[in-house]
Amino acid sequence: MNLFRNFKSVTKTCYGRGSFGKLDEILAPQRAANKGFMVFVVDDWFADKADFKKRIPVHEGDELFFISAKDEPKTSQIDALRDDVLGRKGLPAGIIGIGGGTMMDIAKAASLMFTNEGSSVQYQGLNLIKKPGIWHCAIPTISGTGAEVSMTAVLTGPVKKLGLKCDWTVCDQIVLDPDLIATVPQDQWFYTGMDTYIHSVEAITGTKKNTFAEAYSEKALEMCREVYLRRDRKDPKSDELLMVASYMGGLSLTYSEVGVCHALSYGLGKVLDIHHCIANCIAFDKLEDVYGEYVQEFKGMVKHNNVHIPQGLAKDWSEETIDAMAEVAYNLPHMWDHAFGPEWEKVLDRERIKGWYRRM
Ligand code: NAD
Ligand code: ZN
Repeated sequence: MNLFRNFKSVTKTCYGRGSFGKLDEILAPQRAANKGFMVFVVDDWFADKADFKKRIPVHEGDELFFISAKDEPKTSQIDALRDDVLGRKGLPAGIIGIGGGTMMDIAKAASLMFTNEGSSVQYQGLNLIKKPGIWHCAIPTISGTGAEVSMTAVLTGPVKKLGLKCDWTVCDQIVLDPDLIATVPQDQWFYTGMDTYIHSVEAITGTKKNTFAEAYSEKALEMCREVYLRRDRKDPKSDELLMVASYMGGLSLTYSEVGVCHALSYGLGKVLDIHHCIANCIAFDKLEDVYGEYVQEFKGMVKHNNVHIPQGLAKDWSEETIDAMAEVAYNLPHMWDHAFGPEWEKVLDRERIKGWYRRM
């Protein structure tokens, strides 16, 4: 099939155990820009981890923020961070996000908002950003979302939950150090890891699938099987595989599209504030009629790793809640077009979407 995308990739990638130790050296040549200081946004899980804190290469004049990942990033939060730093210190040389999808998206979005006037709300969507942002770097401490490679920074605004999506969103630098993900709690490790499994499945099971996406997807799926079915989590190779699987799953998606699971997941996220990765798991678990053997495999992974996927949620949802979620999901035509083809409206209506929600 012809699918002419012309996408930007991460400029520099530093991979390997201990690579976090290279960060000071990586930042050195970037520090001369603008007002010559760096901004670090770090998951606050690390705020009381003295050994790790010592390793963050904060120089005099740099700004270090520990931020909670409890809520997914908001437009107001990005605007406030930007206004605070610009007001006190002027334009930073760069920004580094250390954490999961939440911290990486905060760094990516703030990078753009440092140079684009007004509120981030007005830039939610594709190619709305006017100017390149400041230099930015993502360092995952939990793997699966692919936020380290993607061209979007997902933000919840007053109306939309939608990314700042453009070439300039893509990171200038990423540091992939498998040592950093060892401490992620078991359930979260599973939910976030499954995001890359689901990205890979959705990328190759729709009308936009193509050889390029398949190559990344097949490798990512194979790595997920190693991590979640064949190896023990304590096996040191596991974290290495998962970290690279996240990257590959992200790239498979960049050249294809997500599908039914992500559409339903957006409804759960927007209406009920359920976080992206667990929402995906809740939805994927009920999508055997669409993703068949992949859902079987997913259930096997759940069992093998002894994790819990929330069940029986729909009994507490009102009709209005289900309607609202179905409306969010229905209004993602690019996902349905990928999942069911350009004539998707012939096989999909709001009732079918509600049926999936009622199974959850
Ligand atoms: P997260 O950033 O939401 O963090 C999840 C939990 O893991 C938090 O409690 C955090 O404190 C904890 N944690 C992180 N690293 C840890 C470590 N090393 N040890 C112990 N605990 C640790 O995680 P996520 O699932 O990676 O990210 C979800 C976010 O990513 C959502 O906001 C979603 O919208 C976004 N997302 C973005 C993209 C993209 O392409 N930009 C894609 C998918 C999801
Ligand atoms: Zn996802």
